[in-house]
Amino acid sequence: MTDADLTYDVVVVGSGAAGFAAAITARLRGLTALIVEKTDRYGGSTALSGGAIWVPGNFHLDRAGLGDTYEKARAYLDATVGDRVPDARKDAYLRHGPRMVREFHDRTAVRFMYTPGYSDYFPEALGGMAQGRSAEPCVVDLKKLGPLGRDMRRAGLPTYGLTMTSYDFRYLNMVGRTWAGKRRSVRVGARAVGAAVRGRKLLSLGEALIARMRLSLERLGGDLWLSAPLTGLVVEGERVTGVRVLRDGAERVVRARGGVVLASGGFSHDQALRDKYLPAPTSTEWTHASEGQVGDALRLGEELGAATDLLDKVWGAPSLCPPGEKPFFLVADRGIPGMVIVNAAGERYANEAAPYHAFVDRMYAADRPDATTVPSWLILDARSKARYIFAGLFPGQPFPKRWSESGFLKQAATVEELSTLIDAPQLPSTIRRFNGFAETGRDEDFGRGDSVYDRYYGDPTLPNPNLAALDKGPFHALPVHPGDIGTKGGLVTDGDARVLREDGTPVAGLYASGNCSAAVMGETYPGPGATIGPAMAFSWAAVNDIAGPSTPDAP
Ligand SMILES: Cc1cc2nc3c(=O)[nH]c(=O)nc-3n(C[C@H](O)[C@H](O)[C@H](O)COP(=O)(O)OP(=O)(O)OC[C@H]3O[C@@H](n4cnc5c(N)ncnc54)[C@H](O)[C@@H]3O)c2cc1C
Repeated sequence: MTDADLTYDVVVVGSGAAGFAAAITARLRGLTALIVEKTDRYGGSTALSGGAIWVPGNFHLDRAGLGDTYEKARAYLDATVGDRVPDARKDAYLRHGPRMVREFHDRTAVRFMYTPGYSDYFPEALGGMAQGRSAEPCVVDLKKLGPLGRDMRRAGLPTYGLTMTSYDFRYLNMVGRTWAGKRRSVRVGARAVGAAVRGRKLLSLGEALIARMRLSLERLGGDLWLSAPLTGLVVEGERVTGVRVLRDGAERVVRARGGVVLASGGFSHDQALRDKYLPAPTSTEWTHASEGQVGDALRLGEELGAATDLLDKVWGAPSLCPPGEKPFFLVADRGIPGMVIVNAAGERYANEAAPYHAFVDRMYAADRPDATTVPSWLILDARSKARYIFAGLFPGQPFPKRWSESGFLKQAATVEELSTLIDAPQLPSTIRRFNGFAETGRDEDFGRGDSVYDRYYGDPTLPNPNLAALDKGPFHALPVHPGDIGTKGGLVTDGDARVLREDGTPVAGLYASGNCSAAVMGETYPGPGATIGPAMAFSWAAVNDIAGPSTPDAP
């Protein structure tokens, strides 16, 4: 390799949604592009994710006839994100997002479909939409990638060989309860059989998004280096002009004629940074983020005097963390009707069906020295266990033996016995009160089931889809931790994703997008896909800024 080979127009650090979106956009503008990825797999947390994007006003929503407008979406961001983030950035997101979705759809293999009814997380807020604004990746055949598919990070979800979209899952969850659930399970089964017959390996969710992005980059002719961690930024005068990267045991300098886009994720796996910034207690063991995310971009950006924000925030994900196993993210599981989450004393403290991010915030806010919420206890009765998918287990499928053997799962014939077992004296009265709410269909304490969002994963056959009595033993108790699907604080950027100093001036040649940048969503999480949508949109904007108006279109 010669020195000339080590110069690109755009150098991108990290191969998740933000990284691929930047490199793909560069190729679409006729710019040369290289992604350097620290691990031996491409895809980052994005490959492990649901892959959904929350991009108000995109054409999929128009096609579904939802009537979303800039004004409506802006009112919603103002109502949820508020002034925690400058208006210019919220505005930039709403302008860039739909254009990015359209261009990727028209010119790359990246395809999304609207997820009908997957409500905004605060649909009752001004501008909120109960029909939702979320779109998820279209299913794709891994075999289209050929040998490139081997290096993709895989999610390893417990789907028993089935390929499920997020939309499928909502109905499958009710397989034992509704005809829609049964019909959907037949469809998902038929899809699996069809794929097997045709020799296809179908991917959905985040894996589908990353596979589609990898395929697009390949077709457009961008480069990707694996096992090539960024170790430093090259600065000449005031400008970032390249990166230092370890490759094959040696440090190399790769020059970036146009700019460097940092897209290396957050710091979920760095305990020291977690202890420094996040609310206590906190642990790397509770994160769902992919390996290798230890705040590299944050450190390098700070060395250049970049401003930071939102470092005390995660994208919260209430989780079961069985010892020695990957954590399990409780998304739909908290919509189950016959289930409560209580503090150490056995008292409820929140609407269990609330959006996951809001639930984690509440876990920390409600923590008390005499009744901790970290961990909390999730209590489930035998009827709920038999009726619904819970923790990836189908209705009726027993909990893994190792969970009771290790003491992770506690079980008792009566609520009173369970309360003694977990030392939560208030549990019996909490359950009695909750069962009263189930009878009237109204949760007078926390309004569970009041929001359209709560009901999305509830049982539609019940008057209040999120409320049912816990009255059939055995009763189960499992600890719940305030996990995360990533950190949301990082380098402060403007509407074109340029990294800013404390005084608001941009660091020339340096851009940041995705979880290494401070989130445009501020302290909240407005809807399904509100991390990947901005990651892609701001990377698209960054490269447009690099390309400038006169750059020729398309390779
Ligand atoms: C189970 C789960 C479900 C989720 N569902 C959704 C969803 O449906 N919608 C949504 O919006 N969000 C979802 N999320 C969150 C979402 O996945 C992340 O917020 C998002 O993928 C972050 O994208 P990113 O490009 O910033 O980072 P990532 O996708 O994590 O990519 C960062 C990459 O940078 C690499 N890297 C780190 N340091 C270096 C270095 N020094 N040099 C080179 N490379 C480096 C990492 O190895 C990694 O590959 C989910 C997350 C999880 C875990």
